[in-house]
Amino acid sequence: MLINNQKTSLLQIAPTLARYFQITLNSPARPIEQVLRFAYARYPTPHTVVLLVVDSLDIELYYELGHELRTLHRLAEHDGFMLECETVSNHTTPAIASILMGQTPETHRIITSEDVGRSTWKSILELMEEQGKKSGAVIEEKGAEPLIGRLSCVYGVKDREDIVEYDRLITQHTISMLNNCRLQLVFSHIRTIDRFAHRDRDLHLAARITDRNIHEIADAVSRIEGLILICGDHQAHLTRANSIKDSAKSTYKKAKVPLIVAAPHR
Ligand SMILES: [Zn+2]
Repeated sequence: MLINNQKTSLLQIAPTLARYFQITLNSPARPIEQVLRFAYARYPTPHTVVLLVVDSLDIELYYELGHELRTLHRLAEHDGFMLECETVSNHTTPAIASILMGQTPETHRIITSEDVGRSTWKSILELMEEQGKKSGAVIEEKGAEPLIGRLSCVYGVKDREDIVEYDRLITQHTISMLNNCRLQLVFSHIRTIDRFAHRDRDLHLAARITDRNIHEIADAVSRIEGLILICGDHQAHLTRANSIKDSAKSTYKKAKVPLIVAAPHR
């Protein structure tokens, strides 16, 4: 599928989902037309969407780890397409809040997990519920807490040293939520690549583990005839020439992460 040259931003994901599900969401960003065209071409009436954030998966890692991330590349090349998205932050919590709200960190002001419950801005997940569509989330326990009672399904996974086990649990519960809850939008967040990057561990191994999880989730999405959106949240925190570590916590510089949109086939 053709990819156009217009700049796409992570801020556009929530407005795109809002348009697809006909939900009112206040955002300065426009929906991504290519995503809507693809989604409506596959399913004229909205089917379940899984939004999966792969922590620290930037555009460089997407290509560098292409051999290990073969499911991701297969989804982009055979079952959908990939767009490069501009990031809005160097950090996970504000980046994910922006992905889910369609607002910049300067506007939503969610910087740490303590800010999550306090923001007056609502995520696409909460807006779906308020407007009669069911949504769910499978995320870290502390991030899940403020959502309990506000979404149809919430599963929190306790943070732990064994990040591979953590991502296994996220994957398993995402799949069981897809199979059992009849939701229209499911959000989940896997973190092995980010953890391995921070600790200078083998990113090829992290990518293999991540790809296995993506494979299982994509399989579950194909069984329910759904759509999957997979994106990174920020540039990986690596010691490489253009990395943010070298610029020593100085001003934030926009980076690029992939957004893969697919209707997985079995
Ligand atoms: Zn992150």
